[in-house]
Amino acid sequence: MSGYTTVPYTIAYANEEVTDPILFEWRNHEYRLTYARSRRGDWLHGILLGRVRDLRDKPERRGPERMRKLNRRRQQRCMGRLLCQVCGGPATDPDTGRIPWLLVESAFEETGEACGRTNAPPTCWSCVPKAMEECPMLREKGTLWTVASITSAGVLADLYAPGIDPLGVVLTDEKVFVAWDAHRYHGSALAGAEVVELHGMVRM
Ligand SMILES: [Zn+2]
Repeated sequence: MSGYTTVPYTIAYANEEVTDPILFEWRNHEYRLTYARSRRGDWLHGILLGRVRDLRDKPERRGPERMRKLNRRRQQRCMGRLLCQVCGGPATDPDTGRIPWLLVESAFEETGEACGRTNAPPTCWSCVPKAMEECPMLREKGTLWTVASITSAGVLADLYAPGIDPLGVVLTDEKVFVAWDAHRYHGSALAGAEVVELHGMVRM
């Protein structure tokens, strides 16, 4: 993706990375992941969120872009407010009320007729041509859809288990879908992105 002339809104910058230590705590009769110094807002629906800074508006501090990495906060903002992953503006087509969505197979799972799950945010109509042109993966494998509505489904998370040292953690799985109602996984998950379910999908 080094051919980008503009850095997409959701792409992470080097200095946005946060490496605060995580550990397991015993709470409500089970282990759950937490930060060594927990804060309000660390969890969403019982799942620990990966901490990142948002320095996109601070070019002097943010460092170089990490083209293969998404910023968790901006990715979630895009999903929650239906913002374009390239420009960060509203993605919904004001004329039709439908949301244009570029998808690649690796970031999409069909869940039924005309619906499926993805962690890729929408792309507004004016950014679709640029995204197709500048991202080789979208150019080769991308499909364009419009979507009627979305619902939040869960997160993409890394899963951890307690180590031999009770405070230690061992990574057991990466980028696994954890649904909001899959409670048995919540305590071992560290969320890196939100996953939404797309409804009323129409292929363009
Ligand atoms: Zn856009």
